[in-house]
Amino acid sequence: MTTLPIDAPYDAYDDDAHEDGNVLAGPLSEVFAVDLTVAVATCTGCGSAGPVARLRVYGRGPGLIARCPDCAHVVLRLVRGPGTAWLDLRGTVSLRIALPDALPDA
Ligand SMILES: [Zn+2]
Repeated sequence: MTTLPIDAPYDAYDDDAHEDGNVLAGPLSEVFAVDLTVAVATCTGCGSAGPVARLRVYGRGPGLIARCPDCAHVVLRLVRGPGTAWLDLRGTVSLRIALPDALPDA
C-alpha cells in the first residue's frame, strides 16, 4: 500500500515549537480564493471554535500541522509537494467562511 505524504505520523510534537495559524495564509492562498486564516474552525476534539489564525502550527513545510490551542487535537494538515497540495481536514467539524452576500440573479 502506498503511503501518502498526508498520512505521515504526527503524534509527537514539542509544544514550545509552534507558530500561530497566520503562517498558513500563504500556503492556503494557493488553494482558496479567500483568506482562510479568518475562517472559524470548529475542532472535532473538544468542539471549540476560533479563527484558523488561532491554531498552533508545527513544522515548516512541506508538511504543516495545525493543532487546536485548547486540546492539541490536529485540526488541519497541509502538505505541499511538487505540483500537488494535500489538505487534511478530518479534525475539523466545519470551517465557517465569511463571504459577501451573493448578488441576486439579473
Ligand atoms: Zn480542540
